[in-house]
Amino acid sequence: MFTALLDFLFPPRCPGCKDYTESPGQWCPACEEEYLAPKLFMDVDSPIEAVLCLAPYEGAVRELLHRLKFRRDEGALPYLHQLIKQCWEAADESAISGDAERFRNYLGDDPLFVPVALHPAREKERGFNQAVLLWRDFLTGWGYQWLEPLERTRETLPQYTLNKKEREENVQGAFGLRQGYAEQLASRTVVLVDDIYTTGATMNACADALKKAGPKRILAITLASGRNF
Ligand SMILES: [Zn+2]
Repeated sequence: MFTALLDFLFPPRCPGCKDYTESPGQWCPACEEEYLAPKLFMDVDSPIEAVLCLAPYEGAVRELLHRLKFRRDEGALPYLHQLIKQCWEAADESAISGDAERFRNYLGDDPLFVPVALHPAREKERGFNQAVLLWRDFLTGWGYQWLEPLERTRETLPQYTLNKKEREENVQGAFGLRQGYAEQLASRTVVLVDDIYTTGATMNACADALKKAGPKRILAITLASGRNF
């Protein structure tokens, strides 16, 4: 009833072109097609074999992530979840670019999904870890195993303020494994999840911590890519 009233007062709109849509969380088909462009990155010098990014970090995707992270506006989430859902379902049906499907093949039978950790002080200030909000319910809903074995062992500067070299130094050695988790990671395909992938410095620092537990392989998936598509 309350939702119906809200829909009447503020009819749902596509976050891309602002056209009206049928229900909240929906993109219009044209914008969905424009933004949902899964791309696989495979850096040779990274401990991560392959990183799948679902959309470029620009326009409406960038706005939605800003709303979520800096304005703590969880109203942005349904639109971001919709991109994840569409990508996953489309990969199932091979209806989208081959990169998402290729990534699904890398996952194997029993991947273990792990969010990049925030420092406890940052998480407290923000009220949530965006990597968890974006991915956890979606992935567990699909029957995937979710584990939070990483911890940030020291505070770091926000990566977007730094250049590539500074980013590496900023996060190097900043992550560790929480006690008692190493066994669950051994010989597993571990998939790091986060919101944005740019230089990969944060992901690589997380992967270095995970490697100590002897996983079979490390992959990663993020909603957006700050790299040129
Ligand atoms: Zn649109």
